[in-house]
Amino acid sequence: MTNVRAISASSATSPLSPSTIPRRAVGPDDVEFEILYCGVCHSDLHTVRNEWSAWPTVYPCVPGHEIVGRVTKVGAAVKRFKAGDLAATGCMVDSCGTCGSCREGLEQYCDTGATVFTYNAPDPKQTAPVTYGGYSKSIVVKEHFVLKVPANLPLPGVAPLLCAGITLWSPLKHWQAGPGKKVGIVGLGGLGHMGVKFAHAFGAHTVLFTTSASKVADGKRLGADEVVISRDADAMAKHVRSFDLIVNTVAVSHDLDPFLNLLRRDGTLVLVGAPEHAHPSPNVFNLIFARRSLAGSGIGGIAETQQMLDYCGAKGITSDIELIQPGQINTAYERMLKSDVKYRFVIDMQAL
Ligand code: NAP
Ligand code: ZN
Repeated sequence: MTNVRAISASSATSPLSPSTIPRRAVGPDDVEFEILYCGVCHSDLHTVRNEWSAWPTVYPCVPGHEIVGRVTKVGAAVKRFKAGDLAATGCMVDSCGTCGSCREGLEQYCDTGATVFTYNAPDPKQTAPVTYGGYSKSIVVKEHFVLKVPANLPLPGVAPLLCAGITLWSPLKHWQAGPGKKVGIVGLGGLGHMGVKFAHAFGAHTVLFTTSASKVADGKRLGADEVVISRDADAMAKHVRSFDLIVNTVAVSHDLDPFLNLLRRDGTLVLVGAPEHAHPSPNVFNLIFARRSLAGSGIGGIAETQQMLDYCGAKGITSDIELIQPGQINTAYERMLKSDVKYRFVIDMQAL
């Protein structure tokens, strides 16, 4: 066990501040890496403030699951990494490895419920009550859950791919966003801006729905063919029954019917935003009379995360980020709550 510096919260109402946390010793199939950059996801904020009643936060809480860094040590059985390599970890660090979902490369849906998330999750391997995330100097992760980073990409912009990127990549691939499809992305935040980039790169007709008139130009620059202000009922009405797929990233509870109405027959609205309070139930007739589907999607498996990173390397895709110092994290949370992020905060962990 070693002690490393971190940024943690000691309660739902206290600010994040510097602290020290234990990391386990490097086991035979573990990779230890120095964390260079860590993205700031809205899930970090939900967790720090104990907003998910189904998943209470254990304090101290060290969030962060968009992690990139450089390998410092590997266990004897590790094959794919050596000291000095770039490495990355996203939202999970272990799973059972043997159930149907794990064997299909969808470890986030482990059928035995053994997915270990990167923070605030009990982990039999850890020396602490729950896992501690990437707002820290280093991390020890089982090799299977460590990703290869394309060498040509700017590292700070890679970090958000590990959650924001894969969380949009996975449903866009699963529901086959591509040429001939009309795809909507709701919310231009960390997740949404990656959705716009990927849907555009896959060749779909891409429409951004935003509540922020100030984001229209950015939406187009990022790849949207059209931008619709979702609070403008007339603008929304022009798109009724026309979408194959809409992916909703909004982090607060809201009425889903205005988006369900925009799906064509057999279209799907996928929820990836995970608000503190439940959405009001949609009108069932909006589902029944066009055989529409309302679905959810959680991050993405390890194999598809590597595919996404390799694709981003080949296409030169990264996240648009604002690099912050560790001491700016509490202000960053306040700005995130005001939808004032362009489009992901990334912490320079070397400065901790
Ligand atoms: P974010 O950067 O804060 O972006 C959320 C966006 O939602 C905002 O930028 C804003 O976009 C829009 N929005 C905010 N308030 C709104 C309101 N009152 N009405 C309508 N739209 C509003 O958050 P994020 O990091 O992308 O995360 C989004 C959500 O996804 C969070 O709940 C997070 O926990 C969840 N999440 C889920 C998964 C998963 O696996 N399913 C993975 C990661 C995160 P506009 O200004 O364009 O309207
Ligand atoms: Zn996240």
